[in-house]
Amino acid sequence: MKLFLSVDMEGISGIVDTSYINPDSGMNYARGRQFMTEDANAVIEAALEWGATEIVVADSHNTMNNILWESLHPEAKLLAGSPRDYSMMQGLDQSFDAAFFIGYHTRQGVPGVLSHTMSGVVRNMYINGQVVGEFGFNAVYAGMYGVPVCLVSGDDLIAKEAKQLIPEISTAIVKTAVSRTSALCLSRDEATAELKRQTKRALSRVAQVKPVEFAQPLELSIEFSHTGQAEMAGIVPGARYDAEKGIVSYTPQDQHDLYKTMRAMINLASGAEFF
Ligand SMILES: [Zn+2]
Repeated sequence: MKLFLSVDMEGISGIVDTSYINPDSGMNYARGRQFMTEDANAVIEAALEWGATEIVVADSHNTMNNILWESLHPEAKLLAGSPRDYSMMQGLDQSFDAAFFIGYHTRQGVPGVLSHTMSGVVRNMYINGQVVGEFGFNAVYAGMYGVPVCLVSGDDLIAKEAKQLIPEISTAIVKTAVSRTSALCLSRDEATAELKRQTKRALSRVAQVKPVEFAQPLELSIEFSHTGQAEMAGIVPGARYDAEKGIVSYTPQDQHDLYKTMRAMINLASGAEFF
C-alpha cells in the first residue's frame, strides 16, 4: 500500500488566519509549521498502523518548505521546496494506491477558512465547465493517473466541497469555519484523534472510492481578477482568451500539460500590474 499525502497549510488544525501561514510576516508561522507537521504525523502513524508500506509527503504550501523535516515521522519521505512542475502533486504517479489531501481549504469566492484558488489572481477555475478549487483540480490530476483521493482534512466547508466531487471520500474535520479568518478549533488531542480515525476509515475504503474521471479532451478555463491578468495568461501558446467573459481557456494534451499550463497562466497573470 503506497500512499501520497499532499499537505497544504490553511486547513491544518489550529490554523485560522494568515499569521500562521506567512513565512515572512506571520507572528504564528513557527507554530503553524509545527501544527502542520503534527497533522501529517498523525496521518502517517495511523496509516502505518493500518498497514501502509510507503508514504510520500509533498509539502504543498507557498514555497513548499514548511514541514519540519527533522520532526516528520521517520518512515515517511518528504518532498520539499519549489518550484516543481506539478506543484502540490509532484511525485504522484500510477504506482500509488491512494492520495490524501491534508490541510486543504475551500475555493476562491466561497466561505471557509483562508479560501482561495492557487493565488490571488484567480477568481474562478473550471475543468470542463465545472468550477474547481485546489481540491478539485488536484483530484482531477490524480484521477488521470487512476489514483483515488480517499481523505481530505481541514474545516467543515472543505469537507463539503470535497464530497460534492467525491461522495465516498472520508473527511477529517478539525475546525468549524466562523469566517474567512476565524474558526472553532478542536483541541490538539481531539484533532489528532480525528485525523487518525479518518485515516484508518479512508484506507479501509480505498476500493470504494473511484478516481475522478472527466471527459477527454479536458478544457481548463481560468477567470482572472482583472483583464490585465487574463491578457497575460492568454500569451500561453494554444490558449484562447474570451475578452467578453474575461476567461482564458486551454485544451491540455495530458495531465502534465494540464498542471504546467495552469501554473504558467497564473505565473504570467501574477506579473500584470493592477495600478
Ligand atoms: Zn496553502
